[in-house]
Amino acid sequence: MLKFIGSVAASNFKRLGSPFKVSWAVTYRCNLKCKMCNIWDKKDHPPEIKAEDIGKLFQKPHNVHWLGITGGEPFLRTDLIDIVDAALAPSKTLNALHFATNGSYTDRVENLVHTLKKRHKKLKIVFTLSIDGPEALHNHIRGIDGTWGRALGDVYPALSFDDMTVNVFQRSNFYYENHAMPELDPAILTREIRKILAMDKDRLSLNNFLRRKYLKLYLHFLKTRKSPVKCQSFASTCFLDPYGNLFPCAVYNRKLLNIKETVLSLNDIWKLKEAVKIHDECARNKCPSCWSPCDAYSAMGGSIIPTVFR
Ligand code: SF4
Ligand code: SF4
Repeated sequence: MLKFIGSVAASNFKRLGSPFKVSWAVTYRCNLKCKMCNIWDKKDHPPEIKAEDIGKLFQKPHNVHWLGITGGEPFLRTDLIDIVDAALAPSKTLNALHFATNGSYTDRVENLVHTLKKRHKKLKIVFTLSIDGPEALHNHIRGIDGTWGRALGDVYPALSFDDMTVNVFQRSNFYYENHAMPELDPAILTREIRKILAMDKDRLSLNNFLRRKYLKLYLHFLKTRKSPVKCQSFASTCFLDPYGNLFPCAVYNRKLLNIKETVLSLNDIWKLKEAVKIHDECARNKCPSCWSPCDAYSAMGGSIIPTVFR
């Protein structure tokens, strides 16, 4: 944990020698048909990378502390435990996993937690369930009845703001493939963000602080359409797609390489001139620019003083 905090602190002063967080979409298959996302409708499904591919990437020493597993629906991969374990086993620093799931496969979630906690005693596992609103609205947006109940079950009444993050709709031409959808109306979005901030009277905690800052900074983003603090893509974070293609994030369609086509370790990939060049583009908003929570939290961590005082 201390090393992770050290890496986040260091990201305020320099481009790191290794990412501290890798986001990995392990599959683009999905069992739901959400209205704001076209991942489920992707036509092309090349072979997904396997345990040996990810094991090779993490084999040599690196400084990744946090592995974000997303999809599609990650729990559709029947080898999910093996591929995650292939990253964990050789990695000295990697001790936190974050799964983003639509909550359809509770049995598989339980099995994964029991298996991984037995193998990796100090591992922290965090889950994010994606919820779009009250039951009827959620089921309507997700395209399948019963998804709200399956995801939340009896948990809902016990939730507080501290259990939540708020994600504003994002567009991406290679990840969500929803770039043809219209942007949200900024006036409506501003009103809704202010409503959430006014409702939120929860205590001060790290998650509450970050969520409130994310939303407040979204109001800045709406005025400039630029990341309100310096983006950390390819400085301390990156995005790996299900086929091994490495990108700065899930929005900027700027592939660096495919991990199956190189013998380089993660740290060596990080040193490539092209990786540095791409980071420079991200940091100077020469990308589509966004304020997506997938990258906003790392950006806030890498710009602590501007984040606190904005
Ligand atoms: S938003 Fe998530 S659950 Fe919905 S279709 Fe896209 S990947 Fe699947
Ligand atoms: S600002 Fe957004 S689109 Fe640009 S590199 Fe960062 S995360 Fe990607």
